[in-house]
Amino acid sequence: MAQDVLCEVGSCVYNINNENRCGASQIYVVNNKSKDASTSAETDCKTFEPADL
Ligand code: SF4
Repeated sequence: MAQDVLCEVGSCVYNINNENRCGASQIYVVNNKSKDASTSAETDCKTFEPADL
């Protein structure tokens, strides 16, 4: 189980103080296309929620 999830998405409400760390209790990562990903660029975090920037 991942304990320290690093994430650069600073516009997400779960990004802790914009320190590139995720504070969500769990995250759900999905393929960003209908087929199985073959590179990391083809995956997305579905837990993302926009922060009040
Ligand atoms: S929920 Fe996803 S997008 Fe948001 S900080 Fe965590 S890993 Fe990044």
